[in-house]
Amino acid sequence: MKSLQILKEEPKLQGLIKITRESQIPLLGLIHIGVLDRGSSLLQVRASTACNMKCTFCSTAANSYDMHPYNYEVELNYLLEWIKEVMRLKDNQVNQINIDSVGEPTAYSNILELLKEVRKIPEIKIITMQSNGTLLTKDKIKALEEAGLNRINLSVHSLISDQSKELFGKENYNLEKIKETCKLINNSKIELNLTPVYLLGINDAQIDLLIEFAKELNCRISIQKYEIYKYSRKDKRVKEQNWFKFYRRLGELEKKHNYKLKLGPTDFKIERSKRVPLVFQRGDITTAEIIMPGWMKNEMIAKSNNRAITIVDCNYKIGDKIKVKILETRDSIYIAKKI
Ligand code: SF4
Repeated sequence: MKSLQILKEEPKLQGLIKITRESQIPLLGLIHIGVLDRGSSLLQVRASTACNMKCTFCSTAANSYDMHPYNYEVELNYLLEWIKEVMRLKDNQVNQINIDSVGEPTAYSNILELLKEVRKIPEIKIITMQSNGTLLTKDKIKALEEAGLNRINLSVHSLISDQSKELFGKENYNLEKIKETCKLINNSKIELNLTPVYLLGINDAQIDLLIEFAKELNCRISIQKYEIYKYSRKDKRVKEQNWFKFYRRLGELEKKHNYKLKLGPTDFKIERSKRVPLVFQRGDITTAEIIMPGWMKNEMIAKSNNRAITIVDCNYKIGDKIKVKILETRDSIYIAKKI
């Protein structure tokens, strides 16, 4: 399989950066790690970046070491402090937390403790988690249930074993086990939401079968549009479709299978809410201290005004203080360049 050959040709080791409280690295401002606020009542929490798969179409290009030389992991208590800080900055207008990741959330060693601690926050009514399902076992699902997890958004893209192995980029992907895992989740207090990516020209027929699988389990299915980003891993076989055609197709599939497929924020009780106030505006100039290597090659992370800032095209060293110009501020994700 081509994707597996490529994996073998790449270096085996990826550096791991552990972010501790002592480091005082702000956990707000980055896309790949920490806490993300997109102006809704749902906060995204990213505790680690590691993934055990290598999907051909991965939007974050997980395990492409040439692109991401480092993985990151945050100390549990420090992450909890930042979740509470971001909630405070949003005047506590938060009702749910989604443990997601640019990798696989269950690869985070403290996932159960994270869930248990988040469960104790009174404002948090719903806790959800993304997962490819491969690291889940009967005992783990039980533990996740007891820790208070409400929903797993499980990515499964085909019901053909060989095709699944190929799409997930791993020969050890076990579709039968994943199907069993789906049933175990469905029989627990945790809601199961299947989240296949619609890869037009590759898994069209499988989408029909996955809808029937969801019907059989009586669980939700949230079909994802395949999006191509500048730095995503591209599966060149996939035909592009725009949002109009994608929604039209969902409408056709809804009728064909008589099953709800068009799901929006209200279906998941997500409301608009106060955004974390910006500490910089586009064009602002500030002095920032370099604190760690960036997620992408040629990037470094700096801090200023208690926010983490990604500095593009940067080869300065940790501890250097440099003057930067803020280029992007969307969703409190700060990107800057040295001036
Ligand atoms: S499981 Fe998710 S994060 Fe991991 S490679 Fe696949 S798409 Fe990327």
